Amino acid sequence: MGRKHIPLRTCVACRQVRPKRELVRVVRPPEGELMVDERGKAPGRGAYVCRRRSCWCVVLKPGRLEHALRTVVSEQEREALRQYAERLPEDEPESGRDE
Ligand SMILES: [Zn+2]
Repeated sequence: MGRKHIPLRTCVACRQVRPKRELVRVVRPPEGELMVDERGKAPGRGAYVCRRRSCWCVVLKPGRLEHALRTVVSEQEREALRQYAERLPEDEPESGRDE
């Protein structure tokens, strides 16, 4: 097949499999605070979430991220992620429609 290989990842909220680039990675670095890893290259255990608030609402529910990342998420870290999520669109415009 002449198709270019596209790395795929699963959103931990909606379980949809999508190209890695369309997802946001949340990572627990070996040391330090949980962070949003826009480039997807930070070391540590990561979880992928769609770039839409509806998925982040799911992920921010107690226990979700903890389970996905096998870590403890502090209130401060959760709040930082909540703020990140607020900047995202509620849902993706034209999702599922390819040009
Ligand atoms: Zn999702």
